[in-house]
Amino acid sequence: MKTYLTLALSLLMLGMVGCTTVSETGRRQLLLTSPAEESQQGLAAFADIKQSEKVSTDAKANTQVQRVGTRIRDSVIKSHAMPDAQWEFVVFDSDQVNAFALPGGKVGVYTGLLKLVSSDDELAIVMGHEIAHVTSRHGGERASQATLANTAGQLGQAALGATQYSDTTKNLILSAYGVGAQGTLLAYSRTHESEADTIGMKFAAEAGYDPRAAVTFWKKMAAQSGGGQTSGISAMIAKWTSTHPPDAERIANLEKLAPKYQAVYEQAKLQYK
Ligand SMILES: [Zn+2]
Repeated sequence: MKTYLTLALSLLMLGMVGCTTVSETGRRQLLLTSPAEESQQGLAAFADIKQSEKVSTDAKANTQVQRVGTRIRDSVIKSHAMPDAQWEFVVFDSDQVNAFALPGGKVGVYTGLLKLVSSDDELAIVMGHEIAHVTSRHGGERASQATLANTAGQLGQAALGATQYSDTTKNLILSAYGVGAQGTLLAYSRTHESEADTIGMKFAAEAGYDPRAAVTFWKKMAAQSGGGQTSGISAMIAKWTSTHPPDAERIANLEKLAPKYQAVYEQAKLQYK
């Protein structure tokens, strides 16, 4: 019954999995999942989502998401992240305010979110942020933390079967990327949000998008998500911002970051003229 803890500790000792470093920020992270396992789950989940959600045929929406997505993808490739990604950008026709990126290079943007972005720059900030969660392997990290934390709790119960264990890991990974398998969303992690803001802004700036759009976008989300409405657009925004809180600390951080990426943006913009 101590199988999983023993397995995790053995793997750590063997150095097969364990601490790695987020290359863009230098933060150390604990990972018990492999990139291949994460990608496999991302690809499978995306195939499911394409079956269950309505894919948008709106030409304008699709053109915008492809245009911005491919430029962000190119910055990610330049930074040598996600080398095995099978990149794909899909617009889902739904009033939900949401966007997500999955390991394996699959990115979804909902039309409900597109209505709220007022420029390619703002869309690039959102897509850059979601993709940065993936390049930083935040889903794998959260699944790993939960596995270690839960192992002790599970020791008193019958050990989970292999399939159940795999399902739990999958759900933890997916919910960390904003895909609420079983309708659950993990409490957000401020460290991960802040890291995704920083790395996402870098991806956007390197793709020739204005980093200052992060400030305008999140201020707009803060203004529109308040009031505790339970229906309508404010409620949709509030649902999304519950995992991406546009609080004062986040906005102050973005205001501090934006000038750092201004020169990168000005330079990159020239090649997309
Ligand atoms: Zn996030």
